[in-house]
Amino acid sequence: MAMKKLFDRVFDGSDEMFAWAEKSIAEVSAKYDDSTPVAFPNTAYFLGILYAMTGKKNQTLGELKESLAWARSQMTKEERLDDVFTSGIGTACAAEVIEACKYIGNNAPYAEDAPYLGHVTDAEVRELGVPLVTGDIPGFVVLIGAAPTDELAVEIIKSYQNKSIFVFLVGECAKQAERMGVGMGFPVRVFPVGAELPSVAHVVSVAVRAAMIFGGVQPGDYEGIKKYTFDRINAAVNAFDPVPDITVACGGGAIAYGFPVITNDEKDMWPVPRSLIIQPDVKQFVETAIEARGMKVKITNVDLPEGVGYATAFEGEVIRRKDMQVEADGSRHDCLELCRAVDLNDVEDHKITVIGNDLDTYEFGAQMNLALVAEVAGKKMQSDFEPVFERQFHAWVNEIEGVMHTGQRDLIRIRVSKDTFDKGFRLRHFGEVLYAKIMSEYDAVVDKCQVTIYTDADKVHELRVEANAIYDKRDERLKSLNDEGVADFYTCIMCQSFSPSHVCVVTPERLGLCGAVSWLDAKATYQLDNSGPCQIIPKGDATDEKIGIWQNVDDAVNKYSMGALEHVTLYSIMQDPMTSCGCFECICGIEPMTGGVVIVNREFVPTTPLGMTFSEMASMTGGGVQTPGYMGHGKHYIASKKFMAADGGPARIVWMPKSLKDLVHDKLNATAKELYGIDDYAEMIADETVVESADELDKLMEFLTEKGHPVLELEPLI
Ligand code: SF4
Ligand code: ZN
Repeated sequence: MAMKKLFDRVFDGSDEMFAWAEKSIAEVSAKYDDSTPVAFPNTAYFLGILYAMTGKKNQTLGELKESLAWARSQMTKEERLDDVFTSGIGTACAAEVIEACKYIGNNAPYAEDAPYLGHVTDAEVRELGVPLVTGDIPGFVVLIGAAPTDELAVEIIKSYQNKSIFVFLVGECAKQAERMGVGMGFPVRVFPVGAELPSVAHVVSVAVRAAMIFGGVQPGDYEGIKKYTFDRINAAVNAFDPVPDITVACGGGAIAYGFPVITNDEKDMWPVPRSLIIQPDVKQFVETAIEARGMKVKITNVDLPEGVGYATAFEGEVIRRKDMQVEADGSRHDCLELCRAVDLNDVEDHKITVIGNDLDTYEFGAQMNLALVAEVAGKKMQSDFEPVFERQFHAWVNEIEGVMHTGQRDLIRIRVSKDTFDKGFRLRHFGEVLYAKIMSEYDAVVDKCQVTIYTDADKVHELRVEANAIYDKRDERLKSLNDEGVADFYTCIMCQSFSPSHVCVVTPERLGLCGAVSWLDAKATYQLDNSGPCQIIPKGDATDEKIGIWQNVDDAVNKYSMGALEHVTLYSIMQDPMTSCGCFECICGIEPMTGGVVIVNREFVPTTPLGMTFSEMASMTGGGVQTPGYMGHGKHYIASKKFMAADGGPARIVWMPKSLKDLVHDKLNATAKELYGIDDYAEMIADETVVESADELDKLMEFLTEKGHPVLELEPLI
């Protein structure tokens, strides 16, 4: 048989995808007219790829048809190399049309196609923001087709997962993983997309939405989108032999976005462009992909039993009661975790001590007492860093495969799975993990570390009393920390790897909008690396303390945004509000009728009284731009005395989801009591049980009036 050139395979493959899309359109057109709505669920970016590449919103079947014609126009076949790329992108767009057709008249077409999940929501894309900027997710990989054996599929998936690389599965490989019992889903970062190749559009959509969400690239900026994904999204494709023309065409699209394609199919792959890599040994796919895309994999060498993985991907693992060997539940038994700074002479480096019974003395399914105590010492160590390290215990312990951790302080809950126990996991391994992480992440301030694990009931009880005194002291310290009382604020520019002009200004009363960086965290980060993402802003004199204007803050944002930002106020959402990158925990926006603001957190899916969902409100800002009236922020900022302090403070809050209200309830009430002398302020704020949508604004007004909500006394915001 004559050899076929790679170019021709791309062109034939794009023809195939186009024909498929035409067929899908014909099928839905037989049932629906052109005005029928078209949408993927829980996104403000319409059909992500088409929106990104053309700026068109595609909200009806009629518009979808026009967009397919546009996709066809991109499948040019003349100038060769360039045509390969535009045809590839045209193919991705046609694939998105096919997927969109599945969602017409059916909001959950994948619900009956287990294990496949289809569309990735905006909230999920945003959730990836912080782990991507910290490097906790070094990148993405898409596996397409069937691995040579089920075992090899698992080996490759696990290998990516152990490196915390996010894996999308398209086609048979997901079934292979399912047969082998691999846990899948967004939280464990193994995402089975769809059985058919066009479902790969949902993966491309994640990349291009990241460009719009985090990068502030405008929809329709074709070159800008490609440049963003090329420069900033670490992704690669692994396509298993046999690779048909239609997959080759998608590969052309992947390469156009900057994602190398690795395959073990050697047939008709000539001439081989640089970003197409033939790797006959599938066992080498992982290394080849990492190298080809330059992903930086963080490896912490932790002494764990053979076969027990350690990676951020395991953070999302859930261990059910029936699979659990033992549990330490702080709500039922004495349990705690504690990090203490002690004298250098009192620490023996890497000493790990177990006091009490080890895991193998408990019956299957038993409860135990547990205290994890890390003692650290270092010449530059400060007691202010204790809670900073301690708060990380949650993530560090959770990253052990087969171990689940929730809560903090003396309200932790830890489960160890039977499987991990059977592989040899014992108490000292908690110590190994804490030791390894503290020494690798905080080596700039910690010289020595020792860990003691207690299960002895009396001893843990005693320690709990002691620990509570320490927690109380820390809380006092935190309460006394306020913006007036410190000499310095800090910048955080961690998110600049995705939002090039975004700068967070972190103060004691305003944590970073991702919720992960408090003033103490920023201070510790600065101490650890004084040329790192958190830089000191000596406060100096305020130009306007009420609105929160400081010359030094302006100078800092100017400098660290590379001139993109000139003025930022710390306490107003109307005048030069702080920018948002995209990974904010909450978004607040003005509700004009009440003169208040509505706040919604990422986890809340339904619509808000603004008539918009979280995703829709979130899309009003981001990418490092200032949008008066909308602001991304951390959950714990809500109860701060400085929340919108210039615009009336927390008294502006008229609505938030009940779960969010419950989370901030006590602190918010205390703040409102102090600021306005109001008791139980949280009760005055409406939630979804009172008002569900924009059609019920009358009800909202009624509710606020009935409760005597303080916003009614305030001047309108606009
Ligand atoms: Fe990103 Fe701001 Fe959080 Fe830093 S504090 S990680 S810049 S959101
Ligand atoms: Zn961010």
